[in-house]
Amino acid sequence: MQHKPLVSIVCPCYNEEAMLPLYYEAMQKRVLTPLAEYDFELILINDGSKDGTLPVLRALAQQDERVKYLSFSRNFGKEAAMYAGLKNAKGDFVCVMDCDLQDPPEMIANMLERLGKEDCDCVATRRVTRKGEPKIRSAFARAFYRVINRISDTEFVDGARDFRMMRRCVADAVLELGEYHRFSKGIFMWVGFDTVWLEYENVERAAGETKWSFWKLARYAIEGIVSFSTAPLRIATAVGSIVSALALIYMVIRVVIAMIWGNPVAGYPSLLAITLCLGGFILLALGIIGEYVARTYMQVKQRPIYIQKETNIR
Ligand code: UDP
Ligand code: MG
Repeated sequence: MQHKPLVSIVCPCYNEEAMLPLYYEAMQKRVLTPLAEYDFELILINDGSKDGTLPVLRALAQQDERVKYLSFSRNFGKEAAMYAGLKNAKGDFVCVMDCDLQDPPEMIANMLERLGKEDCDCVATRRVTRKGEPKIRSAFARAFYRVINRISDTEFVDGARDFRMMRRCVADAVLELGEYHRFSKGIFMWVGFDTVWLEYENVERAAGETKWSFWKLARYAIEGIVSFSTAPLRIATAVGSIVSALALIYMVIRVVIAMIWGNPVAGYPSLLAITLCLGGFILLALGIIGEYVARTYMQVKQRPIYIQKETNIR
């Protein structure tokens, strides 16, 4: 019998008790059964859910031996869950997708076909619309991509999802980046390889709710910038130089004025304004440095990216 290629599907789950049965059914119907020319393993990562996600996973694993699950000791975040999934995936092809059906399962067939036919290593997806998303969030997202593409050497694609299918070699490369603060959108671009982009329209979540608050997204954006650019560190240098130059010019002007007209003491408000402004800027610069120092500190401690509590993966 000919050996069928194995496809690993990695799916992080956090409080997805309501979503998982729907997800499994959709996968069964649209992927696992129709694509008989492949073997599949579904790697579901329970990222410290507080609802009944784990029992649902155990039940699924019992009824279908292609279902592998791994449960964390607490919530480590989606990035850690994806890392754990990639690490445990044994497939010739590895796919990462969300379990809320916002990543259409029927695209998997298309992805596998492209990988088989074309000379590419990775098939990634991007949303071309942000329908159903708050306007302000879309505006911030677009601003984020503009900023990060300007200051980072790594290219970031607007609307790129984590939903992608890659060859074994790409997954191995991603795993080699053992950084503690993970920003997958950047990591996938950073490792290179030939990537084909598929586009699709935004689909709304089928059940449950999004885990992203506005602040969580803001933190995520800062994470991306700090992880893939050191440009913010140079802001202090730039602004510092400009301010020093201006101060020098101002000093000369004051000396000249004092020599011609004497020195009438005035200007208390402007002094206060300048002091406050500079104080604010110095604190901002310290904060920026702090972001980098904190990440260096976390990385140097070499803590594991996740801790697993229970699994059926051997
Ligand atoms: N997720 C996770 N850990 C978290 C938050 C989210 O594993 O701390 C998973 C979640 O279960 C889902 C995916 O990451 O499968 C995407 O989450 P969500 O749908 O809330 O994000 P959105 O689609 O709104 O970006
Ligand atoms: Mg979602």
